[in-house]
Amino acid sequence: MYYNNDTTVFLDGKWIKAKDASSGMYNQTMHYGNGVFEGIRAYQSTEGSNIFKAKEHFERLIYSAKKMHIKLPYSVEELIQIAYTLLDKNELVDAYIRPLVYAGDSMSLMPSNDSHVFMAAWKWEKYLGDKPLNVMLSSFQRPNPKSCHVEAKVVGHYTNSILATQEAKELGYDEALLLDMHGNVAEGPGANFFYEKDDVLYTPPAGNILPGITRATIIELAKELDITVVEKHFTIDDVYKADNAFFVGTAVEVAPIASINGEKFKGAWEDSAGHNIYLMYRQKVRYNHYQGLTIV
Ligand code: PMP
Repeated sequence: MYYNNDTTVFLDGKWIKAKDASSGMYNQTMHYGNGVFEGIRAYQSTEGSNIFKAKEHFERLIYSAKKMHIKLPYSVEELIQIAYTLLDKNELVDAYIRPLVYAGDSMSLMPSNDSHVFMAAWKWEKYLGDKPLNVMLSSFQRPNPKSCHVEAKVVGHYTNSILATQEAKELGYDEALLLDMHGNVAEGPGANFFYEKDDVLYTPPAGNILPGITRATIIELAKELDITVVEKHFTIDDVYKADNAFFVGTAVEVAPIASINGEKFKGAWEDSAGHNIYLMYRQKVRYNHYQGLTIV
């Protein structure tokens, strides 16, 4: 699904076939989860492939690496150029791009001095599909920000996401919604959360979540549409009184939620502020200010 015999990937400054790419069995990321990554999408635009918010994603990758004491010897501009070359070499236009910075061999708990930079891309449809989601309130909480850098995109943090997703799917739901350590609503396993009540959108503030690049884009778009967005802590009971709710993220884009724990939202998605913003989002991803670097 992710590659075939012809797929080319970037590994430590070289372009190699995906089937020939490998990492050592003693690398610290594999044993202890200290690696950082990104999830980025490129979309077909009038001028070729357009990597949406490329600068923001690679800035976050550099930020995450710094927070986790992992060396990343590339600038944002170099990483953007590698990503466009990757698309070009694989003849991809609408694509998902996955950079991963992983540590060298080390069984100690000191950060490794050695690091590796990998980047791959593949075609990926909307992550959660187009159908409104039946969501489960997870029995797992998001990690306490005093135990890790929740705002960084760290490999090890995703064990929490895997547990929550598995629990929800096992019980017949499409997706999980997790609370934070104070019992307030936080986010999904790989997406931020919004709800709509009386034409106002609410979303948890930064602090106990990974405040995503899509979330920031949605807030910008809401401003353009004169829709008020309130960033505040709220409980699941506030959400049950909402008209609508939706997840946002690079992979999921904007995904409407039909119900949480079987409680259906009353509002029609097609008439909601979230749906209007979604339509704008679909337009916006095809145009941003990095078209100068686009490979046609
Ligand atoms: N929260 C979590 C836990 C995530 O993994 C993601 C995906 N990166 C998001 C939110 C959404 O972030 P973004 O919009 O930057 O993809």
